[in-house]
Amino acid sequence: MARINDNYLKLKAGYLFPEIGRRVREFSAANPTAKVIRLGIGDVTQPLAPAVLKAFHAAIDDLGTTENFAGYGPEQGYEWLSRTIIDKSYKPLGVELKSSEMFISDGSKCDCANILDIFALDNVVAIGDPVYPVYNDTNVMVGRTGEADDKGYYQGVVYMPCTEENGFVPALPKEKVDIIYLCSPNNPTGTVATKEQLTAWVDYANANGSIIFFDAAYEAFITTPGIPHSIYEIEGARQCAIEFRSFSKTAGFTGVRCGLVVIPEEVMGTTANGEKFSFNKLWNRRTTTKFNGTSYPVQRAAAAVYSDAGWAQVKATIDYYMDNARIIREGLTAAGITCYGGVDSPYIWLKTPDAMTSWDFFDKLLNECHVVGTPGSGFGPSGEGYFRLSAFGDKASVETAVARIREKWGK
Ligand SMILES: *Cc1c(COP(=O)(O)O)cnc(C)c1O
Repeated sequence: MARINDNYLKLKAGYLFPEIGRRVREFSAANPTAKVIRLGIGDVTQPLAPAVLKAFHAAIDDLGTTENFAGYGPEQGYEWLSRTIIDKSYKPLGVELKSSEMFISDGSKCDCANILDIFALDNVVAIGDPVYPVYNDTNVMVGRTGEADDKGYYQGVVYMPCTEENGFVPALPKEKVDIIYLCSPNNPTGTVATKEQLTAWVDYANANGSIIFFDAAYEAFITTPGIPHSIYEIEGARQCAIEFRSFSKTAGFTGVRCGLVVIPEEVMGTTANGEKFSFNKLWNRRTTTKFNGTSYPVQRAAAAVYSDAGWAQVKATIDYYMDNARIIREGLTAAGITCYGGVDSPYIWLKTPDAMTSWDFFDKLLNECHVVGTPGSGFGPSGEGYFRLSAFGDKASVETAVARIREKWGK
């Protein structure tokens, strides 16, 4: 009989969101008239920008004509899209990239997972705690780790606690690590890394021959001047960093699917013989063998995000979410709750009042305010005692939720 990949059995059952769903269903069954407001999920709610939709429709019409029909495109994405992203989004940051350094994909989750294909298993990986669970679980799946301990830490992974004390940006590890996952603006903590902090990481990586995986899925939500939108704003990052970006949160593409990976030519690893080899070449080989490109209408829609009309509309939706974030942050702070994030990201990471556990706070918030959020402990042991609220809801619900919380903890 065929053998399974036993590494999958090391994974903890997908517990967080099913458990949230179970508790909400139970509450709603017992309280059928309660209007439950969900500020838990990390999905957007506002429709696509009109300019994006128009380009999407036009591209579908292209497919219905002989002249403009598009079949297989380049596996790496159309150059008109990568050039547009480079010119409109990277150049203004002072970052120069070649089209051949950018790979268009069907989303960032797949990219963050698939990138492990081109790295040897014996690389030592460092992951934040709390963290976007994909980084951890994909390393378990490929067999880079041992079993989990009772805290949920896997043997062989270096976990970097992100806490109030270090401003939720991890300290440099004491041991030598080969791969470092950084996410700024961060999901779940909503906090950002400064130029100085990222410079320290880039210097560490270049000194130790490590590679940084920089997840910039939320870069478009940064409002504070001077906070890097790209790791390549940091000197030396072209030698050591791979960047992931997504249209999901930026432009509401969670259901449309488009992302990208940047791998500069200078990013090198070593072969078994100790020779240097380019990760860009490996990723290009992987992409052309295992992927047949992001759909043509999706890439046309993505390009329209960076048109003048498209960007103005996309930006207005981001501002709408960030105004929600402000309402949540200010409302909770006024209620005496300590909040982080919500300034440069759509997530508020709050410290549970009265030192409640994350799940106790979840139950209290659900039962007494009819508001659903995400327990911080679900993102890693260091998330215990914290709670994530998302600003992706509609304004009226956000305002009602905040009013209920203020009434409860009222000040
Ligand atoms: C939402 C999100 C992504 C983007 O995922 P897609 O697959 O592009 O939808 C990537 N990283 C983090 C941390 C996210 O929260």
